[in-house]
Amino acid sequence: MNLAVDIGGTYLRYDTGEIKKIEIKNIDIEEFLKELIKKYDVKKIAISFAGQVNKGEILSSPNVKKFNPKNLGIPYVLENDLNCAALAESNYFKSKFLVALYSGTGLGSGIIENGIIRGYKNLAGEIGHIPYKKAPFRCGCGKDNCIELFASGSGIEKWAGFLGCESNLKTTCKEIKKNYEDALLVAVAISLTLFNPEILVLGGGVIKNNPYLLDLIKKEIKNYAPKFAISKIVLSEIEDASLKGAKLLLKEENET
Ligand SMILES: [Zn+2]
Repeated sequence: MNLAVDIGGTYLRYDTGEIKKIEIKNIDIEEFLKELIKKYDVKKIAISFAGQVNKGEILSSPNVKKFNPKNLGIPYVLENDLNCAALAESNYFKSKFLVALYSGTGLGSGIIENGIIRGYKNLAGEIGHIPYKKAPFRCGCGKDNCIELFASGSGIEKWAGFLGCESNLKTTCKEIKKNYEDALLVAVAISLTLFNPEILVLGGGVIKNNPYLLDLIKKEIKNYAPKFAISKIVLSEIEDASLKGAKLLLKEENET
């Protein structure tokens, strides 16, 4: 069989007809994938990966341990997880001009304009690491001013540890909630202004657990983005978008 896998910041998901997941911290990624390949007689694998990848190689990965997909010993496609998610969202919403902005463990985006916008080294859309404000700790990329330090699950956790409060948006530390909402609005405004999508899709664990954020963004975005740049903003309606995107890649490759 051909197998689609999604390696995220917290879970590894795979689709054998039924979607299964396992916590990343409990496994050696390479060994685990090798076992799956053996068990399911996998001929080809499409991997969605939560890190910077280009031409089949992992360049860096602030939130996940690196591994070498060449060692798997079978043909593979490797793609950034947000690019995969954007493909799946584009397919679902039937839009060729779409930005998927996800706030989960990290903050990232995938941009579709008649296909994935990649940039020179497939690094376009790494919005989580643009400079925003100084934080009292560092991002996985090494800097201390990334917007991801405010508008992501790992950011919320770092702030919660630093301030000694609960790590969610319902926490009594108003500062965490305010920081998160403000940074997310900035990220949405940047995405709308830079890429002029038909639809901007919000997804990822933090958004999913706090759907009120959509109403907040719709209400406040006029104070962050110029009026002409504001387009349709929606919540993701699909489960496991990155995994679904990886599956689409398997299909595309078979057709070419
Ligand atoms: Zn960073």
